[in-house]
Amino acid sequence: MTSCHAPNHHTDKLLNPIYFMVMRQNWLPYAKTNAPRYTSYPTAVQFNENTNLETATDWMKSLNPDEAISVYTHIPFCEKLCWYCGCHTTIPNGYDRIGRYFETLLKEVQLWKEELGQHAGASHVHFGGGTPNALNADHMLQLLDALHDAFRIREDAEIAIELDPRTLDLNMIRSLAAGGVNRASLGVQDFNLKVQQAVNRVQPFELVRESVERLRNWGIRGLNFDLLYGLPFQTADTVRDTALKAAKLAPDRISAFGYAHVPWFAKHQKAIDENALPDTEARFALFNVIAETLQSEGYVAIGLDHFAREEDPLAKALSAGSLKRNFQGYTDDACDTLIAMGASGISEFRHGYCQNLKNIRDWSECVESGKLPIQRGVPVSDDDRLRRKIIEKLMCDMSVDVEEICQQQGHSDTELNKCFEFLKPLANDDICHIDGSVVSVPDDARIFLRSVAQAFDEYASPSNNSPRHAKAV
Ligand code: SF4
Repeated sequence: MTSCHAPNHHTDKLLNPIYFMVMRQNWLPYAKTNAPRYTSYPTAVQFNENTNLETATDWMKSLNPDEAISVYTHIPFCEKLCWYCGCHTTIPNGYDRIGRYFETLLKEVQLWKEELGQHAGASHVHFGGGTPNALNADHMLQLLDALHDAFRIREDAEIAIELDPRTLDLNMIRSLAAGGVNRASLGVQDFNLKVQQAVNRVQPFELVRESVERLRNWGIRGLNFDLLYGLPFQTADTVRDTALKAAKLAPDRISAFGYAHVPWFAKHQKAIDENALPDTEARFALFNVIAETLQSEGYVAIGLDHFAREEDPLAKALSAGSLKRNFQGYTDDACDTLIAMGASGISEFRHGYCQNLKNIRDWSECVESGKLPIQRGVPVSDDDRLRRKIIEKLMCDMSVDVEEICQQQGHSDTELNKCFEFLKPLANDDICHIDGSVVSVPDDARIFLRSVAQAFDEYASPSNNSPRHAKAV
């Protein structure tokens, strides 16, 4: 073990003196550096307007007719703002704006249906936000019907949706069940009332328990919980208690994301009391308390921040070496093509990424004029593809044989010698191991996966500490 299980003076003020993993002092500089989340490569920072509707139209025509696709729909509305929020969302104050957005969304679905080349139907469908259950139950069912019609959603498809338990009613659950939804992701964050009050999101355990029960009763059995560490007033006790309560409800997947405090960028975060925020070392310990608790409750650790039950497809994909990473995080979705609808949605094709207009009014005007609302993007070059594969392997399997990937993709392994130079200090500090051409990340340095992957990133090398990305810890 490269770290011990004992309290230290830095974390005592926030964490109880019971067992938790303490960060080594030589890891602290790495924890404070910024690194992309690598849900794509190149990342969205590289998107520009040289890639536009014309480029994307060429890409979308060249689908393989035997190829299944993934579909994403973005609903950028929430009833109330959580102060930690870093998502693309709006508080609409009433249903009118949401209703208009829904009407335009149906038109965008039709535009994609007309423009897209032949494909073999949709095998993965995901609704994200914002809060997808900001739509009313009738509109949700109509939207699901429209997606079934436009993209021929397969019988065995995974249809997943992000839900806010505070606003989830029975009518919505009925619509989701009728439309074939089979996986729900509930925003939980933390079950402690003081923590919830400090971030303007009060949702008692009982409310989440009821939502879970209702979803299961209506046949929606795939369940994810999203937890958040790094929130004000969190301690080892609160996060352990939250993780135990979460595990008690037995969702098949739980994620533990780090709160990114960037009030200069997300102005509403100024409402959060900075004095109550855990420091870097405490954040490291909080993550590890959650990780250890979930693993002791039978969850398998997956990549950077996911946990899944052994029988879950994500855990099986990890064992089989087929785990993937896309804009929704870790996935067993093997599709190369992702069609994204709604303001700010990002689509992926074999040739590159493209993003819809972010501003709801601009997006709406463009769709209403009969054009797909694509604003910007980035092509993926051969070199990007090679680095993307290596980064994805690291982020998913925590290990990659660089030479093997280079050979598979027809590249010389010497092309990436510079990356190994970047990795040397991390290897000296036990954040990664290098054995010939194999780079691996030990379990206790899991939280630094992004920093190791960054060594292979041509655009954001470790020497380029871009504030546009979140801190490693
Ligand atoms: S519900 Fe989610 S998207 Fe909406 S404000 Fe809260 S964190 Fe942001």
